Amino acid sequence: MSPAIMLSDPAAAAWTSLGCPSIDALQPIDGLCGRCGTTGSSVPSSSVISEKFANFDSWPYGWRRLCVPCAWAYSRPLNSQLPMLISNTQISEFPDGSGLFEALRSPLPHDLAAVIPIRRLRKRRHVLPTAQWAHLAMDKLVLPWDRAAASRLVDLQWIRTVTSAGFRQLTRPAPPVRFVTSLPPDQWDRMIEAWTNLQNWRDNPTVWAAVYEISGPAPTP
Ligand SMILES: [Zn+2]
Repeated sequence: MSPAIMLSDPAAAAWTSLGCPSIDALQPIDGLCGRCGTTGSSVPSSSVISEKFANFDSWPYGWRRLCVPCAWAYSRPLNSQLPMLISNTQISEFPDGSGLFEALRSPLPHDLAAVIPIRRLRKRRHVLPTAQWAHLAMDKLVLPWDRAAASRLVDLQWIRTVTSAGFRQLTRPAPPVRFVTSLPPDQWDRMIEAWTNLQNWRDNPTVWAAVYEISGPAPTP
């Protein structure tokens, strides 16, 4: 398979942009990667990944071997994963999900992928290997980042800016009255609509935790 096709995968693009780091595993031999289907240098999955952490069901090509980029993505330490924006040529890492906001306030184009290991959930899962172009990958799920998602995120950040609402308050299905009436009357409808439009996200605790982190203030250094 050509390198251009290999880079159709954000995890492989991240590996390439970091200078193709080697992995601490057995000497690679030719084989089929169980996760991405690339044929070439591969290592036994068991040499880089614990069965406990793998989601083998999502590997369409079997589970015995991994190509080197996929093996690298799985061998990164789980407790030091950072939010990440991946393009075909570079990756940017951020100390906190709020670093992704600038990119996610617009739909993600087909050559960008975003990854967020959600702090609040404190789960230990490999998120980078699940990344897809034009999607936001988070613990357990990958969300298409389209115009609707981007505008909802901008709304969420606006709500937090004008109300200082905390996590519990934002989780209510409707805004507390004082958050509405404290605004100029011409913004009341916007507040009610923006707040209500977040319900799909509230219904999924993983998505909700992710967008809360992304829409929040950047951590103080
Ligand atoms: Zn692979």
